Amino acid sequence: EIGSGLVGSEMCIRDSPYGAQAAKRVKEDRATVAQALGCAPDEVFFTSCGTEGDNWAIRKGVEMNRRKGRHIVTTAVEHAAVLETCKDLEQQGYEVTYLKPDKTGHIAVDDLRAALRPDTALVSMMLVNNELGNIYPIAEIARGLAVKNPQTLLHTDAVQGFLKVPCSAKTLGADFLTISAHKIGGPKGIGALYIGPRVRNPKPLLAGGGQEGGLRAGTEATAQIAGFARAVELRRENLEEKLRCMAKIRDYAAERLSAIPDLKILSAPGGAPHILSISLVGWPSQNIVNDLGSQGVCISAGSACHQGKASQVVAALKLPKRVAAGVIRLSFGPETDKGDIDACADALRRHHDTRMPML
Ligand code: PLP
Repeated sequence: EIGSGLVGSEMCIRDSPYGAQAAKRVKEDRATVAQALGCAPDEVFFTSCGTEGDNWAIRKGVEMNRRKGRHIVTTAVEHAAVLETCKDLEQQGYEVTYLKPDKTGHIAVDDLRAALRPDTALVSMMLVNNELGNIYPIAEIARGLAVKNPQTLLHTDAVQGFLKVPCSAKTLGADFLTISAHKIGGPKGIGALYIGPRVRNPKPLLAGGGQEGGLRAGTEATAQIAGFARAVELRRENLEEKLRCMAKIRDYAAERLSAIPDLKILSAPGGAPHILSISLVGWPSQNIVNDLGSQGVCISAGSACHQGKASQVVAALKLPKRVAAGVIRLSFGPETDKGDIDACADALRRHHDTRMPML
C-alpha cells in the first residue's frame, strides 16, 4: 500500500489487486486450518487468540441459547479464559456448575450427566488439560447431550488438544471448538473458533466491516493467519511420528525424574503426549522455575497465565499442601530430546540437594 500511495486508506483487502491476492491467501489458509480440524472452511473463524475463542463461544453461546435457560456446566480445571468468563456470567445472573476432578484430574462423565438440567444452555469442557495433560471425553459427552439435552450447546477448549491428540471437529461433535496457533509452533496473536452447523445464526463477536463471515469484523491479520496455516502444515508433516516421539520423551522424563528423591509424578497415564505434571514435594515451585530457568531449563509452575497466582487446577486436585507447593509442568515439543530431559533431571536433582525445602 505504501508503494501505491494508499497509506491510511480504508481499503478492504479485496478492493485492490494486492488485496485480492491477500484475500486468496487467507482463503487458502482457512482451508488449511479447516482440513486439519476436519471441518468446512466456512466453519472456521479466525480470532486473535484462544482466549478470544473461548470468550466468544461461551458468551455468545449462552446468549444464543437464552430460551433454553441460564445454566452453564463447566469444570473446575478449565483455563482461566473459560473460568473467568463463567465467573463474569455468574455476575450477570447465569448459574454455573463447576465439575470437580478426582485426584488424578479425571472428570467423570456421570458427574456431568448428573449436573445437566432442563435449563442448561451450554456445557464447556476442555479437550486436554493444560497443566496435567488429561484428555477429556468430549465425543462421549456430545453423544450423551444429543440424547439427554439435545438443545444444550457444547463448547470445547481444544487449545492444548489441536494436533496433539485426535481433534476432528466432526468426530468430537462439539458445537464450538477453540484453537490457538502458538501451541503448535505458530505465531502468537492468532487463533480460531470452529462453529458447527447446529449453531444457527451465530452471534457476531465484533460488529463492523463484515469480515469473517460477518461474525468477527476487523481487518484480517493476514500475516498471522499465514503463519498459523504454515505451522499447521509443518506440524502435520509426519504428525503420527512426532506424537509418538513426544510420548516417548514424556515417558522417559517420567522414568528419569521418578529417581529424584521427593519427586512425585502427578499426570495420570494415557494423557496427552506433550505434558507431564510433577511435584518436588516440599520445594516451592516458583523457586524451582527460577533456579532451573537460570540454568537454561524452561519449565513452568503451572500455566503461564497464572503469573504467581495459585493455579486453579492444582487447587481443584486438593493435594496435600507440600505436594501442591512443588507442582511444576513440563511440556515437550517435537524437538525436545533425551538430552533436554537429562539436563532437566540433573538440574532438579541439584535443586533438591542444595536448596532448603519449605518448613
Ligand atoms: N486454553 C488453554 C487450555 C490454554 O492452555 C491456553 C493458553 O495457554 C488458552 C486457552 C489461551 O490461549 P491464548 O494464549 O491463545 O489466548
